[in-house]
Amino acid sequence: MIALSNITKRFGDNTVLSDVSLSMPEGSVTALIGPSGGGKSTLLRCINLLETPSGGTLRIGEASVTFSERGRLSRAETQMIRQQTGMVFQNFQLFPHRTAIENVMEGLITVLRWPREKARARAVALLEKVGMAHKADAWPATLSGGQQQRIAIARALAPSPRVLLCDEPTSALDPELAAEVVDVLAQLAREGTTMVMATHDLRLASQIAQTVIVLDGGQVVETGPARQVFDAPERERTARFIATLK
Ligand code: ADP
Ligand code: MG
Repeated sequence: MIALSNITKRFGDNTVLSDVSLSMPEGSVTALIGPSGGGKSTLLRCINLLETPSGGTLRIGEASVTFSERGRLSRAETQMIRQQTGMVFQNFQLFPHRTAIENVMEGLITVLRWPREKARARAVALLEKVGMAHKADAWPATLSGGQQQRIAIARALAPSPRVLLCDEPTSALDPELAAEVVDVLAQLAREGTTMVMATHDLRLASQIAQTVIVLDGGQVVETGPARQVFDAPERERTARFIATLK
């Protein structure tokens, strides 16, 4: 279970997230939608502490951290949260000078200090899961965007995080390549992977998310079952926004 209570994030005078409270049960898939600049990326980055919230409490499994404007997190607290999350970015962000399999092994070796052979075995299994075992020794630059993103998903899953965070995982891809990535994420969802994803891809969101959260101006303005939010949103502004995605 992941729970955010009153998470606030300010950049100087600019409040980018205000009092965001959400809970996501284990095994659930949550889609974050909303206009550009609404705070989706910042919220995901706060969950894995790429950004430090200005206030509120974040709980992931047994790990819980309370933030304040002045308080600094200890390295141990940051590590504790970060190890429970895996992140997938819009533009893949693979290490360009590592092969596909080395990308997946990297964190296991450098952060978790796994022996190389154990890391390799785990990476092979994950590459198989995302349909990329045949490209284990390929360089990222030689792969399509859909293939790179599938490797990025394998890399994010390598340390067995409790939650997979995806920031517009299909936005940089042509439709047929996006479909490969949607298939992988749908498979993970069926297997019970807990996911939170920011997306403008209605097909992705409606196919795999149970819950949709609409973030607008840094606030949760609507939340509900995916079908309900997409087909019968409560707010006029949400309806207009969803219409732009169709
Ligand atoms: P979304 O992903 O929904 O498009 P973002 O989370 O990227 O929204 O951005 C929300 C707001 O936060 C925007 O106004 C953006 O300019 C601001 N913002 C994001 N990151 C930073 C940063 N590092 N410094 C200052 N402002 C930021
Ligand atoms: Mg964003």
